[in-house]
Amino acid sequence: MTTMTSTAPAFASLFDLSGKVALVTGARTGLGKALAEALASAGADVVGLGSRPMPETSRAVAAQGRSFHEVVCDLEKPHDFHALVADVVARAGGIDILVNNAGIIRREDVLDYTEADWDAVMTVNLKSLFQLSQAVGRHMVASGRQGRIVNIASLLSFQGGIRVPAYTAAKHGVAGLTKLMANELAPKGITVNAIAPGYMETDNTAALRADPERTRQLMDRIPAGRWGAPQDLATAVLFFAAPASGYVTGTVLPVDGGWMAR
Ligand code: NAP
Repeated sequence: MTTMTSTAPAFASLFDLSGKVALVTGARTGLGKALAEALASAGADVVGLGSRPMPETSRAVAAQGRSFHEVVCDLEKPHDFHALVADVVARAGGIDILVNNAGIIRREDVLDYTEADWDAVMTVNLKSLFQLSQAVGRHMVASGRQGRIVNIASLLSFQGGIRVPAYTAAKHGVAGLTKLMANELAPKGITVNAIAPGYMETDNTAALRADPERTRQLMDRIPAGRWGAPQDLATAVLFFAAPASGYVTGTVLPVDGGWMAR
């Protein structure tokens, strides 16, 4: 009689983040808070970065039995990101996963859009994402980590939108940078992917959700027929953060209830 030996890897362990440290930007509210909590539930310790303290996120991570470190840093201002990363590494022991989630949106007609709004959105949504990824990437390479970088893009990484020129330019930039960084960092064992959330129920979309006409127009086009919830993104982030996705890099994944398929 022959004995069948399974050659299947232990799949559950491929989604286990125990012993990992995840740095999540914009972790105080909305999607970032939900992502921090999800990463903790999969076993990761979390470092939350934002321009203000985030006690609720700290409590949510602690409730999952994981440790939480807070970095208060206004990404609109210039920073020495290498010093910031060195400080995080000293406090948390290293960084295995970077989730670039912080972002702002400023709405105005293209003919009236101000330089101040352009600079603020481009700095928070694109420039700081590049600089933080560069600093964390150096740390991951130097410490021999199989690192994971996950960028939060947007449907406006693919489409033009209206009245959000800087946001659209920045989010197209996030998609491009994701591919560039994936190309350069794959040989070093680091994956870089992006997630493009659809219309999610957060502060970011408060103005849209308050407008019944825009809400009706949007719902008409979303096959799933509802706003996305922050938790809808969590599974995608967990996949990109996990050992399971080691051969997936340079992708921009819409999580949009089917919007891009219409
Ligand atoms: P949100 O609730 O407004 O969260 C944005 C986060 O970014 C906040 O936690 C905020 O933290 C942080 N942030 C903003 N300016 C910052 C600064 N100068 N320095 C440091 N942190 C800063 O909105 P959200 O919907 O969760 O957005 C998260 C990401 O998803 C953004 O990149 C957004 O573009 C993207 N997204 C959202 C949707 C949607 O439908 N909601 C759709 C597509 C893409 P502080 O308050 O501590 O500054």
